[in-house]
Amino acid sequence: MNAPTVPSPATAAAIPFAVPASRWDDAVAARLSPAELLLYRSNLLGSDLTVTNFGGGNTSAKLTEIDPLTGAAVEVLWVKGSGGDIGSMKLDGFATLYQDKLLSLEAHYAGPEDDDKMVGYLPHCTFNLNGRAASIDTPLHSLLPFAHVDHVHPDAIIALAASSGGEAATREIWGGRIGWLPWKRPGYTLGVQLRDYVAANPGLAGVMLAGHGIICWGDSAKACYEHTIGLIAQAATYLNGKLAGKPAFGGAVHSLSALDRAVASAGLMPRLRGLMTGQNADARRKVGHFSDDAETLEFVNSRDFLRLAAVGTSCPDHFLRTKIAPLTLDPARLDDDAYLAERLEAYRALYAAYYERCKRPNSPAMRDPNPVVVLVPGLGRITFAADKTTARLAGEFYGNAINVMRGAEALKEDGGAGYIGLDEQEAFDIEYWLLEEAKLQRMPAPKPMVGRIALVTGGAGGIGAASAARLLAEGACVMLADRDAAAVEEVRAGFAKRFGKDVVRAVVCDVTDEAQVQAAFDACAREFGGLDILVANAGIASSAPIEATTVDLWNRNYSVLAEGYFLTSRAAWPLLKRMKIQGGASVVFIGSKNGVAAATNASAYASAKAAANHLARCLALEGAPEGIRVNVVNPDAVIRGSKIWDGDWRQERAGAHGIDPGAELEAHYRNRSMLGRDVLPEDIAEAVYFLASDMSAKSTGNMINVDAGNAQAFTR
Ligand SMILES: [Zn+2]
Repeated sequence: MNAPTVPSPATAAAIPFAVPASRWDDAVAARLSPAELLLYRSNLLGSDLTVTNFGGGNTSAKLTEIDPLTGAAVEVLWVKGSGGDIGSMKLDGFATLYQDKLLSLEAHYAGPEDDDKMVGYLPHCTFNLNGRAASIDTPLHSLLPFAHVDHVHPDAIIALAASSGGEAATREIWGGRIGWLPWKRPGYTLGVQLRDYVAANPGLAGVMLAGHGIICWGDSAKACYEHTIGLIAQAATYLNGKLAGKPAFGGAVHSLSALDRAVASAGLMPRLRGLMTGQNADARRKVGHFSDDAETLEFVNSRDFLRLAAVGTSCPDHFLRTKIAPLTLDPARLDDDAYLAERLEAYRALYAAYYERCKRPNSPAMRDPNPVVVLVPGLGRITFAADKTTARLAGEFYGNAINVMRGAEALKEDGGAGYIGLDEQEAFDIEYWLLEEAKLQRMPAPKPMVGRIALVTGGAGGIGAASAARLLAEGACVMLADRDAAAVEEVRAGFAKRFGKDVVRAVVCDVTDEAQVQAAFDACAREFGGLDILVANAGIASSAPIEATTVDLWNRNYSVLAEGYFLTSRAAWPLLKRMKIQGGASVVFIGSKNGVAAATNASAYASAKAAANHLARCLALEGAPEGIRVNVVNPDAVIRGSKIWDGDWRQERAGAHGIDPGAELEAHYRNRSMLGRDVLPEDIAEAVYFLASDMSAKSTGNMINVDAGNAQAFTR
């Protein structure tokens, strides 16, 4: 990368905060029960990204229900339960608890040291056998005497909550209507403090929780919702007034073109990913996520970037996803592996020192010390996590943290600190909270391919799509590459529905075009962070006797089947090599029975397949020192779902065998096989999965025939 950073001559005004407006619809609300009104309000709040980050916040209502045991009317707290997201939750996402039992819990509370113990009492208050676990924020809702309570963490609100000028700004915006409580970790103690504070300050309509968010209330679902939206809008408008006409973060001192950012991220991400190793069991292969959105660029390109990045994130919601601080890199040294390794090592050492400084006698063991967030001036933001969704969300949370810093800095008073991060020991106590640890321990073991990234050529075809589906089903991320843009997009969209939108991408790629092949691997590096698995599958087939084989037909077979496999392998190589210290990488060629056994009237096709098979053996030899395994799956007569078998090849093979090209053809191949069975794309995919996974970690240079048995193709 040449001259990555240049001072920006123009200094743009700061990006403003979004000002939310009420989306309440009386016609919709009129049809809803009290519990459904709570859900409606929660979904409205949570699906508005100007209001809350993913999963952030919780809502409650104290409703009258009929006790299933006594038939008496009782007061029940409906409160968003543990886990999930208020934007997409359903009614079953709420915990329901007897309000009188919740209030009686105070008899068990002697002081802040009882916070964790109090969580254990919550299940005893469950109403109607509801299995949804109550969250640690439940006391904030139960101890306040209001019918409807919202607790949210919008960027504009946290900006106030995390600024040295935040308390003064809160007074200026709302007079005495909104109170201010100093930072306190969520839990029963915060609930008691909040209740007592509200009792001592009658007339409050809400309370800012320093370093955290806001809690506010209303007499009805609608009043509560519109009050919450109104407070956020007022905070955003106030901040926008402070930001107006000035550049954020001291103005820009770096910039890079979009093209340079794309090139640099594709180069950097696999390097970092390959270097993110460690002794910890959870330091597994990671998936990356890149963003160069306007907010991120405004921050990383700014004069104040390094100072603020070092402060770390503030809101516990952000911090749990992003780790205490990001890793920052010098944009001029991104091609220097030694520099990157040194920066990562230094980060891991700092993290270990933080752990040692802050740990308590019963703290869980240190977790993966690698950074989650990596920031580069000019370039943007890269996040790494065990899976793609976690990496994306961590990035989005850091985006929230950037917004918070922009607002908090705008409130900096003369001599004030501006943005304030979370106290280190408080941060540690949240990160290594025994309750969080218990949550982690309850998580199911990851699927075997989580953290692995595969690129499948011919990804829109039968065998390619089936192989991709097999890898996706085991947790891998997949880049589908195919020359048919419409078909590959259709397959991608189907997989996104089936496996989630984060884990699958598509790129148009003709494997005979060197530039397109390189672009496909660059896209894979940028979208996921690197590559662990190449499935070289894109193919064609042709049939002609030797005298009728034109040079063009010959070259077409060789350009797709031999040169195409060469080009994709060569482009994959530098990415695959980087995984050596993490257990290596795998290349799987889809060969053919005809690469081993001679075929009638298909010399161009069969000899090109043989060339690919031998290329695989050569690459297995060359790849072994780099930890790259190369193996071949030889299918035969996989007709269903095949694009090859859709066209002339079907007619030609039927002609060569003197049979009908329809059902008779499938029967012909089935009967010809030794086992007398059809071979399906899913059968090939099973062998691909085996060769791509660690189950075959000690196999290279092999061929697996998946052809229902064909003596001619026995390898020897
Ligand atoms: Zn909160």
